[in-house]
Amino acid sequence: VQSLVKHYPVASQGLRRGRLVRAVDGISFDILEGETLGLVGESGCGKSTTAHMIASLVRPTSGAIRYGGKSTAEAKGSEQRALRREIQLVFQDPYASLNPRHRILAVLEEPLRVHRLGDQRTRRKQAEEMLELVGLDASFGRRYAHELSGGQRQRIGIARALMLQPRLIVADEPVSALDVSVQAQILNLLKEMQRKFSLTYLFVSHDLNVVHYMSDRVAVMYLGKIVEIAPVDRIYSSPLHPYTQGLLALIPGKRQESRGGRTASGSGAFSRPLLLGEGLSELPATKEDGPRTFSEETSELMAPRSETTNPTALTGEMPDPVSTPSGCAFHPRCPWAREGCRQAVPPLQEAGDGHYVRCFLP
Ligand code: SF4
Ligand code: MG
Repeated sequence: VQSLVKHYPVASQGLRRGRLVRAVDGISFDILEGETLGLVGESGCGKSTTAHMIASLVRPTSGAIRYGGKSTAEAKGSEQRALRREIQLVFQDPYASLNPRHRILAVLEEPLRVHRLGDQRTRRKQAEEMLELVGLDASFGRRYAHELSGGQRQRIGIARALMLQPRLIVADEPVSALDVSVQAQILNLLKEMQRKFSLTYLFVSHDLNVVHYMSDRVAVMYLGKIVEIAPVDRIYSSPLHPYTQGLLALIPGKRQESRGGRTASGSGAFSRPLLLGEGLSELPATKEDGPRTFSEETSELMAPRSETTNPTALTGEMPDPVSTPSGCAFHPRCPWAREGCRQAVPPLQEAGDGHYVRCFLP
């Protein structure tokens, strides 16, 4: 992804014409084959728009997306069809994305029909096999989406995405509409499918625990820009951007190591409470009220462990992306902001070992 930009004209009344929502404001990053890149940030930071551009649902204003070395915007004909097969999207709300009038088997066969792959019998067979792979028995094939639980629907959402044998899955908040007790099962299913089919994931979420569990590398977005990107352990143990530090300090129960300015790190919460997947693999895949581990761990996580307030904890609201602050867009919320931060945009600079940060004072 190179210098990707998506600006929308402002449509609402009362605002001057010609103003723009800077949803994505010039981002560059790589997704490496076989990895999971987590994309994290508050709602409205541009992460869904980024995901939708990569999945060819939204056309970029400028910049380039290259897949296997080829520009996706320039792909035509068979190249474009191959691209549409190889990059698939898993949506946040599987209910909204599944046709309510079709039985599940027809929902799964549809992508094959659209791409004219196989005859009716092979399509049916592949759909039945896929149902089983995602942990649902054959009886689900005759049901409708409204007869399924949220977790079962997301299993179908994942199955449908896999029908075309994609290589890159763009998952946009795939578990945030689900009960906490079901989230771990869906995350583990995604991991299992990744191993089985050698998939690459772009995993979009506002939930730092979920992103930590899923990702090899993590990119943090703020107001349409990537402010930090690093291997997962590095970013969680030694975040360099004040925004990342603020997000991590907001996680309930994150143990305070010091009352100083820096975020608690290293042996803080992230070295242990992330047990989302613990013991889940042995459990029957369709058991919705299933494992206690995740919810127990979560309630433990939520219990405050410290009375002290962390000076790095994120405060304030994200500004409107129509009137982005000058200079470093984070400066109104940054505890370390100084005059220069209001004037110039800090570049994304390498801090070693694949760790990049967009801050004058990392
Ligand atoms: Fe804070 Fe300045 Fe760094 Fe921006 S550049 S995050 S305002 S210290
Ligand atoms: Mg979103």
